[in-house]
Amino acid sequence: MIQSVAGQLPDGALSNRRPFRAPHHSASMAALVGGGTGARPGEVSLAHHGVLFLDELPEFQPQVLDSLRQPLETGEVMIARAQARVTYPARFQLVAAMNPCRCGQATEPGFACRRQPNDRCMAQYQARISGPLLDRMDLSIDVPAVTAADLILPPPTEGSAEVAGRVAAARERQIRRFAALGREDIRSNAHCPPPLVEEIARPDPEGVSLIRDAADAMRLSARGFHRVLKVARTLADLDGEDRVRRIHIAEALSYRAQSDRRPAAA
Ligand SMILES: [Zn+2]
Repeated sequence: MIQSVAGQLPDGALSNRRPFRAPHHSASMAALVGGGTGARPGEVSLAHHGVLFLDELPEFQPQVLDSLRQPLETGEVMIARAQARVTYPARFQLVAAMNPCRCGQATEPGFACRRQPNDRCMAQYQARISGPLLDRMDLSIDVPAVTAADLILPPPTEGSAEVAGRVAAARERQIRRFAALGREDIRSNAHCPPPLVEEIARPDPEGVSLIRDAADAMRLSARGFHRVLKVARTLADLDGEDRVRRIHIAEALSYRAQSDRRPAAA
């Protein structure tokens, strides 16, 4: 329906494939969240139940990026025009990629940034992502450049098909858990409201003390705290475990972006 409203149905045919949208970093606010003539749905809605991929994240206009906060939180986006007010669904998975700095290689051994020192070059570039947006990111992973030596490694023992199987099993587990609680409306940990998260992701005693210490040390916001619990619950689901243990909390915490080199979350 969203694609139809947007006039983007190829040959007028419906598809059961989840969408994957990758708008360019020059995208306007209207293109990303919707609006313009006829209050068209934007990329966040076209990516509903799919992936919104933003490459070169800091190159997007800061206001455009911050307009993602509301849909990320509520799963919908409201567009107010003079003649109309429209609400579109926008429950997407945000995936983003960025270089460590504007020159792109600040973390490479021996590389000297054009504007020294490398640390400052990185800090300036990464500060373009606001703390509140960063606070909504669950998994932040440094990916080192591929070396020639990497290319001659044997292929990984687990391929994409096996990983997809594990993910599907973890999702099944989540659907069954919420159904057992009489919440068939929730189908994944990601969509679980905070009070229920505390119930389904209650860690073992060692996990409780770890997340308590980390909440202080990492200055976790309430949102960040619940997000860590959700990720830990999902990691336990991937392991096929009923209980969230310390190891799951530790791994979930390791995926939080380092807040010491970023502005504090609001
Ligand atoms: Zn640099």
